[in-house]
Amino acid sequence: MAPDDRPQDGAHHDDTGIFRDAGLVRSAEFSDAGALSLIKSLMSSISDLVFVKDRDYRIVLANHALLSVYPEEMRDRVVGYTTVEEYDEAEAAAFLEQDRLAFETGSSEVTERLLFPDGVTRTLLTRKTRFEGPGGRPYIVGIARDISRIEQDREKLRDSEERYDLAVRGSAVGLWDWQIRTNELFWSDRFKELVGLADEKFVPHVDEFFGRLHPDDLDPVSAALTAHLESGEPYDVEYRLRREDGVYRWFNARGQAIWGNDGSPLRMAGSVDDIHDQKLAQNALQRSYDKLNQFAHVASHDLKEPLRGINSHAFFLREDFGDSLPTEVEPRLQRIEDLAARASMMTTELLEYSRLNTEADERVELDLNALLEEVLDVFADRTDTVITVAASLPMIRGEPAALASLFRNLIANGLKYNDADEKRITVGLADPTDADGHAADVFFVRDNGIGIAEQYFDQIFLIFRRLHKRDDYGGGTGAGLAFVRQVIERHGGTIWLDSAVGEGTTFFFTLST
Ligand code: ADP
Repeated sequence: MAPDDRPQDGAHHDDTGIFRDAGLVRSAEFSDAGALSLIKSLMSSISDLVFVKDRDYRIVLANHALLSVYPEEMRDRVVGYTTVEEYDEAEAAAFLEQDRLAFETGSSEVTERLLFPDGVTRTLLTRKTRFEGPGGRPYIVGIARDISRIEQDREKLRDSEERYDLAVRGSAVGLWDWQIRTNELFWSDRFKELVGLADEKFVPHVDEFFGRLHPDDLDPVSAALTAHLESGEPYDVEYRLRREDGVYRWFNARGQAIWGNDGSPLRMAGSVDDIHDQKLAQNALQRSYDKLNQFAHVASHDLKEPLRGINSHAFFLREDFGDSLPTEVEPRLQRIEDLAARASMMTTELLEYSRLNTEADERVELDLNALLEEVLDVFADRTDTVITVAASLPMIRGEPAALASLFRNLIANGLKYNDADEKRITVGLADPTDADGHAADVFFVRDNGIGIAEQYFDQIFLIFRRLHKRDDYGGGTGAGLAFVRQVIERHGGTIWLDSAVGEGTTFFFTLST
């Protein structure tokens, strides 16, 4: 615009006031004719429903948005109608009331839920304003905004807030919420109750938490928080918090952070549960477990020595007095040697069994197919035996030596307790639908051997428990299945079996649950 065209001071006084009265400013070139076309364009493009009514409540002007809520065939009748005809009587009375109010006081505003002639129920925020129209007569202009979506969203929000509130109040676990940038902290009433803290004593700052944390747990908790916030690892920790009465109790906490667009953590929330009694029981169990293992370890070590002594004394007796001994002594000596050898074997197995618990496991990623192939090598020379691997086995994280001995034991048993001319063993993966609802892979080792009566299904897993005479079926100490079960449990799995006497046995097991 050239500087000369610019409206000079006082230019507004010359116009007809259409713009000025409406509180608008304009340039001199924007004439009243321009105003009319502006109104036209506004009225047709606006998505609010706009209408003008006269003193008889008849619509004298309506925009496209308003017309479009009427069915096609009614649209040309809209102007001239009071529109009340098309509405429910109570609804019509309600908005006539608003019209009246606008005529009397100059304006009215209402939020109304209406069933429109097009069959849709809408929530409208309607403002009506009185103005002086043609011939100085009063009219009202109404602008109705469809706020149905906003209302629905509001309702949804209310619902979800109510649900959240219920969950917080009804939850047996405590809930927490930490605004990481401000360190503001929220604890649900249940959380406060768990630490015996009165509501008014709670300080809504993260120090409330760290101040109660047991000094020994500070490092592991900080490490877990860092791991979660920096690399998203699950936050699932056990720690001790000091209650108001000064006593520390064990808690289990889980949580989840939310990160901002720039990758920095904004907020973290989660749950907390009192696990004190469980933790104490677990610790006591672990201690007695450790003691038992220590005992087995020491006993088996220490027993080896005297057993060796018994053996050598039997040997010396035979060496030194061989010729002069009465003939019936020799079988007795033999028996002493056998028994000592057996006791020695049992102590070795006891030692191995306890090692499984006391030694740190060394887990590696391993291919069970390759591992099984090595195991089967041992049985390769047997002519009366067919061993089939019926599935491709998965990769797992585990201890190679222990897992090899697990398969070796099960397969060896299947051949040992087997009278069939052709001894058949199948190793495979069970169909998940037969797998007793186990989520993990279910392995099986099946044989066509002598079978096991159901009443012994539990006992066979006990250490040194055999179902046969000592030397029947190739002998054995009865440690094999105890060992097998131990390996499986160490890998987070379980073992069970299915068997029929005379038909064969299938051992099923998982390696992680
Ligand atoms: P061991 O073989 O040294 O006796 P195990 O612990 O391996 O010890 O087995 C315990 C008992 O379970 C065995 O004595 C045997 O009676 C029974 N058993 C184990 N595996 C089988 C099998 N596949 N078929 C029949 N009986 C079995």
